[in-house]
Amino acid sequence: MNFINENAIETRAFINGSYTKSRSGRTMHKRSSLTGQPLAAVTMCGEEDVNDAVQAALCAFQSGIWSGKTLAERRAVILRLADLMEMHRDELARLDTYETCRAYQNYYYDSIPKAIEAVRYFAEAADKIYDMAIPPQKHQFGMICRKPIGVVGIITPWNDPMVVGCWKAIPALLMGNTIVVKPAEQSSFSMIRTAALAKEAGVPDGVWNVVPGHGEEAGRALALHEDVRGIFFTGSSATGKQIIQYAGQSNMKKVGLECGGKSPYIVTRHCNHIQKAAETLAANIFYNQGQICSAPSRVLVDRLVRDEFLEHLFIASKAYLPGHPYHIENKVGCVVSAEQYAKVMQYIETGKQEAGGWYSPEGESDLPEEAKAVRPVIFYDLNPSACVAQEEIFGPVLAVLEYQTADEAVTIANDTPYGLAGAVWTDDLSEAYDIAGRIEAGLVHINSYGEDNNSFPFGGVKQSGWGKDKSVYAFDEYTNLKSICVHI
Ligand code: ADP
Repeated sequence: MNFINENAIETRAFINGSYTKSRSGRTMHKRSSLTGQPLAAVTMCGEEDVNDAVQAALCAFQSGIWSGKTLAERRAVILRLADLMEMHRDELARLDTYETCRAYQNYYYDSIPKAIEAVRYFAEAADKIYDMAIPPQKHQFGMICRKPIGVVGIITPWNDPMVVGCWKAIPALLMGNTIVVKPAEQSSFSMIRTAALAKEAGVPDGVWNVVPGHGEEAGRALALHEDVRGIFFTGSSATGKQIIQYAGQSNMKKVGLECGGKSPYIVTRHCNHIQKAAETLAANIFYNQGQICSAPSRVLVDRLVRDEFLEHLFIASKAYLPGHPYHIENKVGCVVSAEQYAKVMQYIETGKQEAGGWYSPEGESDLPEEAKAVRPVIFYDLNPSACVAQEEIFGPVLAVLEYQTADEAVTIANDTPYGLAGAVWTDDLSEAYDIAGRIEAGLVHINSYGEDNNSFPFGGVKQSGWGKDKSVYAFDEYTNLKSICVHI
């Protein structure tokens, strides 16, 4: 049986409640990184299609058909969407696997359920947050209320299309906004499908639009649009900087950015669980071929425990050899594209010049010859300023750095342009508290990694961006505070 019926995939944009071809009739042609064969061609939206989508979203917003509903009504619709996503879990997982060649197992058991959980979290939280009143005075009363922004633009990456998409789309919708989503070129189908499911759940036409297309064209048009009041983006820091400029060149729209990372993972001499620390690191840097913005791609290990740690790390890395993404037993598939593969391989070549040594596990694979997949690579005996220790590679490539004192560890940890996430492993509580407080990042784990559930705000500092996904703080991103001052 075929993994997916390509002819049944909906490849058109979703504008004003209907599947729509681009006005120019253009489509995007991509190849599978598993087979090298062409994938189903997706509609390529240009500026005129983005204009149509924004116009539909603006009309829907102004009509009050969605923003005029009570929070409880919007919650009920979004909870229905979660149920529909649950019913279509396998289909969504297959769409994302087909396009990105990440392991189906990841999507089916992790990503899609995580997206559904986020949808439910936001829906259940939305009508439980309060607006405020200022302390009443004799002749004055004041309220501070949240107001939807209006038309919200959302630009998503390819590494976790449904999770990141839902982190942004759902709180934006629950707060009464209407949205236009520009999915990544490499992963459009699941978002198109989800917008159609949202319609089925009761989201009115024009409220949720999807415009697949190129970043420099459709993404740019969305971010520059005068009727878009907020633009929320996840992707590279370079593109994030452009998004800020687009906002400045147009209507000073609100901006939210979740960008790159080079997250440090500190293992101190007071860590009594070296094997667990190594296994947790391997699970987080080699998962999804390292294509995760918050992946701990730099480990800083105390010289005293370095050898023991590396021994466990090498063993742990063997569990993340890539395999055929369609086979349910494989937890790692391919990288997303031939371009991404070439970029990662180039970094690996650079690392071989820079590092004193490196390790890469060997093993059998059920992948076809032409598949673009990368075995984990661990570089050690590295200078902290080495390219592979500084730049975001977005591949299964780990830089191992050594240190002697906690101060040195913190200095190295903070010495990159990024500040997304980090970790410290130690059984000394004072040391954990001290180092966690000093790592410049939006999220720091102590003796764990990636265990932050929906209640934790997620987003970085420095060139990892600003603004928060997840948690009730996400609602702040998609609302403006309005003060109403009443004279009695
Ligand atoms: P990556 O390098 O991980 O692909 P990008 O930042 O290039 O990250 O892409 C993330 C998202 O940003 C994608 O949806 C992409 O189409 C979009 N994008 C890329 N360039 C631009 C741009 N100039 N303007 C708006 N969106 C863009």
